[in-house]
Amino acid sequence: ATEIRLASRPKGVPTLDNFSVVDTEVPRPGPGEVLVRNLVLSVDPYMRGRMSAAKSYVAPYEVGEVMTGGAVGEVVESNDDSLRKGDVVLHELGWRSHAVLPAGRARRVDPDAAPITTYLGVLGMPGHTAYAGLFEVGQFRPDDTVFVSGAAGAVGSMVGQLAKLRGARRVIGSAGSPEKVRHLTEELGFDAAFDYHDGPVTEQLAAAAPDGVDLYFDNVGGEHLEAAIDALNLHGRIVVCGMISQYNATEPTPAPRNLAQIIAKRFTMRGMLVADHNDLYPRFVEEVAPMVRDGRLKYSETVVEGLRNMPQAFLDLLRGGNTGKMLVRA
Ligand code: NDP
Repeated sequence: ATEIRLASRPKGVPTLDNFSVVDTEVPRPGPGEVLVRNLVLSVDPYMRGRMSAAKSYVAPYEVGEVMTGGAVGEVVESNDDSLRKGDVVLHELGWRSHAVLPAGRARRVDPDAAPITTYLGVLGMPGHTAYAGLFEVGQFRPDDTVFVSGAAGAVGSMVGQLAKLRGARRVIGSAGSPEKVRHLTEELGFDAAFDYHDGPVTEQLAAAAPDGVDLYFDNVGGEHLEAAIDALNLHGRIVVCGMISQYNATEPTPAPRNLAQIIAKRFTMRGMLVADHNDLYPRFVEEVAPMVRDGRLKYSETVVEGLRNMPQAFLDLLRGGNTGKMLVRA
């Protein structure tokens, strides 16, 4: 068996030295437990936060310990009546080839209903985040002009398409390469998109949203947030889902310098955590799964082969090496 441990805490941008890939014995399941062989594993931006010791909404990884995260695998041994050998399950003991866990901590998924990778992406946590963020936290209304940053990623690509499918007036996305910009406008149906490397975000956004923005879905923070505040219409809404531009920061980052506009524009800004919206999960699956099946909602996955390459996949995710959901196939 193979597992990946946190070798040291990164300062700034993580490197391969922060991880160790270790060969181990295949663990044995105890009473009530199952042994799962992982098939696909998720790397997600929040894991960068867990590599640091700072207190946050999920506990830090411990140095020397195997890391955790979402994974889908096959039950190879079961000591519990609720799961059988051959069942495919979603669980939280990723970053390893073999996981032992209580049967109750593994959720069975149907590999015939949808490709198993989708349970970590479009039909999993990132899709759920987009759905809850846009419709519940952001109080999306048809006719909204929506701006989403990180738009070619797992969450952002869903936000833009869901808004469009629900009747948004205009959907604008920003991303980090010309290929991603093309992907947004030519394949995902965004009305406009820009590469944030091409010039000041404020200027590019103003050009893309001549009538302003009603709802900004923030995955990036920093300059993007400041630009969105400038573009926001009266009573606009900001959903703060992530601030990936700051995850590797070694110094406190400046607040948006134009926050005072919150008064004149009476805009609202709400942080969100997907885990607060578990009640919405069934409705999300019911609504989104058919749209994925019939192709109204498109999704991309960037799949890295081999568990040993998982640390590199994670580093690539932070640098924008993915289009859609970044995954590792064991
Ligand atoms: P993505 O698939 O969007 O991958 C991360 C992307 O971030 C990269 O592909 C890269 O794309 C972009 N990025 C990296 N650095 C920067 C930067 N400095 N400026 C702008 N973009 C950057 O990841 P997810 O869809 O999984 O997550 C998106 C966001 O949502 C993250 O901030 C994450 O933390 C947050 N999140 C929050 C949740 C919650 O409950 N609040 C739940 C899930 C995710 P590019 O090439 O465009 O730069």
